[in-house]
Amino acid sequence: MTDVLAIAEHRRGSLRDVSFELVTAGRELADARGGDLHLAVVGGDVDAFAEELNVEGVDTIYTVDEGEEFNHDVYVQVAQQLIEEVEPSTLLLPNSVNGLDYAPAVAERLGVPIVTDAIGVAGDDPLEVTREMYGSKVETTIEVDAPELVVTIRSTEWDGAEGEGSADVQSFEADVDESQVRSTVTGFEEAGGGDVDIADADVLVSVGRGIDEEENIVLVEKLAEALDATLSSSRPIVDNGWLPKNRQVGQSGKVVTPKVYIAIGISGAVQHVAGMKGSETIVAINTDPNAPINDLADYAIHDDLFDVVPALIEEFGGESP
Ligand code: FAD
Repeated sequence: MTDVLAIAEHRRGSLRDVSFELVTAGRELADARGGDLHLAVVGGDVDAFAEELNVEGVDTIYTVDEGEEFNHDVYVQVAQQLIEEVEPSTLLLPNSVNGLDYAPAVAERLGVPIVTDAIGVAGDDPLEVTREMYGSKVETTIEVDAPELVVTIRSTEWDGAEGEGSADVQSFEADVDESQVRSTVTGFEEAGGGDVDIADADVLVSVGRGIDEEENIVLVEKLAEALDATLSSSRPIVDNGWLPKNRQVGQSGKVVTPKVYIAIGISGAVQHVAGMKGSETIVAINTDPNAPINDLADYAIHDDLFDVVPALIEEFGGESP
């Protein structure tokens, strides 16, 4: 068994970027093992998705016309049936909310190991999977001595595959046992903060406990507006209920890799750094010259954010709060 099977992810009518990153990771792995890369898309407008997913590196695309949106019980059954069809050595899934929802269930049903949050996959036999440990302080490479396994990959660790592909597109008739489908998606309600995905932003203005009070958040909002940036935060801001959870950067929030990350009143605790250390350029605004964030920062401004942020808003032609 040398083939690799990946299952794309979509949400509310659009493929997620990680679907194309799965192709890059899957291709690398399939090449190392001398096998093919199969990509499946389950639910939604499968034909349009298949067209979009037909990028360089994919050998086969399976379209599985089952529902509109992600459903744990459907995905588990379909994944299992696809695996029986394709017999891959590795099932690659995104390390996303959805991926992590069903990957362990698939691994458990098949009785195979699972490695989550991979940042590297290599080797033919045994497979070597790299992941971070101890709050991203160390990277470890795990040798998995098993003929089959499930791996979830961290988004943005691989470039998304592109270029015109020549995959063989096949419709796959899954035999979903409806009596085993225990939930139905009846609609969507946005969490506060809208449908913002901070992981997609090029520029993030990120606010921490140094902002002191909820009423001061408007100051960083105005800076974000002036820079056409997205607002994110450290965990205490979310714990205080000042911003919604989908804005949190870090180990228990989101991993982000923007072009510019502006950390305002954020100390740079390891759990925060775990989520933003891959940013291209880091700017820190902090009164404390010994704050750990300064060690990471390309530009460190040791000054009071209540002086610096209004000056930046003015400089970039923004509106004062
Ligand atoms: P602080 O550490 O309090 O830092 C505030 C900073 O603001 C200080 O450096 C201070 O010098 C500066 N400051 C104060 N006033 C001003 C001013 N007027 N002008 C300029 N600077 C000023 N944290 C996360 O962020 N994300 C996570 O996902 C996350 N996950 C966690 C998971 C676990 C299991 C645990 C145990 C913790 C986690 N944490 C996470 C919490 C983390 O340990 C820190 O407590 C948190 O990151 C600190 O947030 P902060 O930098 O905003 O606050």
